[in-house]
Amino acid sequence: MKILVTGGAGFIGSAVVRHIIENTQDSVVNLDKLTYAGNLQSLESIKSSDRYSFEQVDICDRAELDRVFKQHTPDAIMHLAAESHVDRSITGPAEFIQTNIVGTYTLLEAAREYWNTLDTDTPAKQAFRFHHISTDEVYGDLPHPSDIYNDECLLVNGEFSSDELKIKNSTSSIKSLPLFTEQTSYAPSSPYSASKASSDHLVRAWLRTYGFPTIITNCSNNYGPYHFPEKLIPLVILNALEGKDLPIYGKGDQIRDWLYVEDHARALYKVVTEGKVGETYNIGGHNEKQNIEVVQTICEILDELASSEARDVKCKDGKPLTTYSSLITYVTDRPGHDRRYAIDSSKMQKELGWTPVETFETGLRKTVQWYLDNQVWCKNVQDGSYQRERLGIDS
Ligand code: NAD
Repeated sequence: MKILVTGGAGFIGSAVVRHIIENTQDSVVNLDKLTYAGNLQSLESIKSSDRYSFEQVDICDRAELDRVFKQHTPDAIMHLAAESHVDRSITGPAEFIQTNIVGTYTLLEAAREYWNTLDTDTPAKQAFRFHHISTDEVYGDLPHPSDIYNDECLLVNGEFSSDELKIKNSTSSIKSLPLFTEQTSYAPSSPYSASKASSDHLVRAWLRTYGFPTIITNCSNNYGPYHFPEKLIPLVILNALEGKDLPIYGKGDQIRDWLYVEDHARALYKVVTEGKVGETYNIGGHNEKQNIEVVQTICEILDELASSEARDVKCKDGKPLTTYSSLITYVTDRPGHDRRYAIDSSKMQKELGWTPVETFETGLRKTVQWYLDNQVWCKNVQDGSYQRERLGIDS
């Protein structure tokens, strides 16, 4: 099978491309505009495979999409290309509307016209799938434990008490709080999630109106190797290694359900190959963690894994670094910040037999180790040289 992956140079897209090339016999056409978030260096390990090809194309460019469909004749599409960073969507929503809504519409139309040209009743037409990859943020947010307990008890002397949080996290009351299911109503909060919700609606309308064979997945927060360091986990790891502040929004009590990116890539491949047309599948890691807990755990792992050479950094106050958690700094909360996300992924488990392999602890340890071992990739992202390939500049 030949799969057209959009956004294959991004964080999750590159994990999907690596997964397909390394673990299956299928071919991949990676279609990516290479925005700041696209990094071909994340595909070094598979780029010479004869089952891999790359097209630098914007999903808003209909003529180019038509060319790609005609030239490569894909059997399925996995659509991951998007603007994906919530903070950027608050300061500049236009790109999010353009790529996530207009781009998805343009891709749907190009794909539908191509699908219409396939001979009716042929296996190729029947097997064709348009798999739209989306987020749990379309559902808005869920009740937070502190909506049930008194919010004040989460604070001790104005500082976060991690012991207090761990006790709270281990109570059965928290586990009985609601989760997002495939039936949860949409209630997006940010320009990012509203644009993703719009794209989900377009995809469902193309199924209902035109009978175009679509599948949607909505996933929780991903983390793992090759993550662009504007997102919480890589930002914290790389800032810590430079002795910079580790910024925490508000009190750091926002809860996210974390999934290791390679578990997500496996899930997505299962959905595109075995999922039922017209269905939605929620994908999550069953790892509800407060942001502050995530950051503290990263600091503990770094305290253990970072070499004495790596720890030899100057802190802002000029003092030597004792423990990475001393770098934690609380900053003003993001406007409209969702308080809690948590996914019920039992449908994926029951219908497609998928479960995550990594626990949060094993996945986070692997991730920290990957950043320690891949300083060249990190340096190229931090100094912008990863974009030279995109811009055609010799290094
Ligand atoms: P990312 O920002 O790392 O990558 C996005 C990729 O899309 C980049 O390679 C970029 O160059 C490309 N792209 C952007 N605009 C484009 C355009 N107009 N045409 C073609 N390519 C374009 O994003 P990610 O974190 O890998 O997320 C991938 C998808 O998964 C997104 O649709 C996102 O909404 C969804 N998602 C992400 C998460 C998460 O935790 N990161 C969770 C759930 C769902």
